Amino acid sequence: MLDGTRRFALLRGGLAALPAVALLASIGSTATGQPAAPAPFPALPISVTTALEGGEPVVDDAWIAGQVENANTIFSPHGVTFRVVERHTMPEAHARLENRRDRHALGHLQHPQRIDVFLVRSLRDVDEPERMRQGVHWRPRGDAFDARAHLVIVSSIAGPTVLAHELGHYFGNGHSDVPGNIMSYERGDVPPFFDATQVARIRFSLRRFLQREELVAADAVATP
Ligand SMILES: [Zn+2]
Repeated sequence: MLDGTRRFALLRGGLAALPAVALLASIGSTATGQPAAPAPFPALPISVTTALEGGEPVVDDAWIAGQVENANTIFSPHGVTFRVVERHTMPEAHARLENRRDRHALGHLQHPQRIDVFLVRSLRDVDEPERMRQGVHWRPRGDAFDARAHLVIVSSIAGPTVLAHELGHYFGNGHSDVPGNIMSYERGDVPPFFDATQVARIRFSLRRFLQREELVAADAVATP
């Protein structure tokens, strides 16, 4: 799932390197010491682009809805929700991503001010080519792309919470070694969760994306 993480950590070093104490300082608390319910952000727009293979989408609508629903379940306690505002398809040439170039090519299919999620049949690890990945948070590189451009790719083999995991990367988080944490590879016996530091990082990143208008509210983009 992580394949993009090493690259991600390097490129996003500034944010990832923020001390946890600074991030935690932005978390409110009540007099009882319980965390205050965070102020909700506006729902965020997701643009879904599904690869076609043999003329058919590589995943069906229920699969997509399940991924988005799970992401909302995991993010919404922290004031962050997602809404699919548009759906697209892309040609079979983008169905099986074998290398970095294949991933970068998706940068040309991005939609401004939305979270772009690309759904593919298969996604090969670019560092360990014998492995197939379930998803990745990726920064397209090339003269055509802004340095801040980034996107999410999810493979048809993905488990039900892979979109949520990749969105965790999208908002600045690396991996966790705590079983059950959504940013861990190990599922626990509790529903997947973010810890307080991860939540602070998500909210910090999101505030910045909104300030820069790299993302806007779902309500602000036209729905088809
Ligand atoms: Zn990952």
